[in-house]
Amino acid sequence: MKPTLQSGLSRLGVELPDETVDRLVSFGEAVLEKNRVMNLTAITDPDQAAELHLLDSLTLLKVLPLAGKSLLDVGTGAGFPGVPLKLAVPSLRLTLLDSLQKRMRWLEDEALPALDLEARFLSGRAEEFAAQYRERFDVVTSRAVARLNLLCELCLPYVHEGGYFLAMKGAQAGEELTEAAKAIRTLGGSFERTETFEIGGAAHTVVVIRKTAHTPPQYPRAWSRIKQKPL
Ligand code: SAM
Repeated sequence: MKPTLQSGLSRLGVELPDETVDRLVSFGEAVLEKNRVMNLTAITDPDQAAELHLLDSLTLLKVLPLAGKSLLDVGTGAGFPGVPLKLAVPSLRLTLLDSLQKRMRWLEDEALPALDLEARFLSGRAEEFAAQYRERFDVVTSRAVARLNLLCELCLPYVHEGGYFLAMKGAQAGEELTEAAKAIRTLGGSFERTETFEIGGAAHTVVVIRKTAHTPPQYPRAWSRIKQKPL
């Protein structure tokens, strides 16, 4: 895993101390190890995990400066992209959110303590925590959780004005962006740009949305409503 991660980082133009690379590899190995007994990821090959989980998460370092920022990772699953970002930027104030309690418990009780990493853990649905943590974060990230028009309603309410929502998408990013134009506007966002990285031979695109106005109080709606009647 380490040589793959190192060569990926140099392709990406990201320099990290050797100790940090070792800690990233330890986390990647812990995910694969736990994956034998708990469903965390479809990826079982260590080099693929280095590229598609660790390196892919770290592309966000090229998108925004994250030092000292508060960051919420919505639908973090086994901790991507939030945990690799916290390992790379220790001053990041990280909150991890996921509705699957088992995954959150593993992150909170085993994975992060083993790395001596601090984070806040929100175990539940994104649309249900939004009232409590509304417009509280500098940055919200999300990877592989929902199509962008639905995802915006889960994520943008958490971002304060002037902050950013970074949605990590695949080759279909342009199409999702067109579909999400109204949702972005309605929720107080403004599309800023996309940044595309080649990861594991495929184009991975980060959609950068800036929060330019408050999210109207009626959002987010219940998930059934979001799905039935996307904005
Ligand atoms: N972000 C991780 C990654 O890229 O490896 C995990 C992706 S996994 C395919 C999607 C995760 O989103 C699952 O862990 C699921 O429990 C979570 N999720 C889906 N909808 C959610 C919601 N409304 N609120 C919180 N978590 C949600």
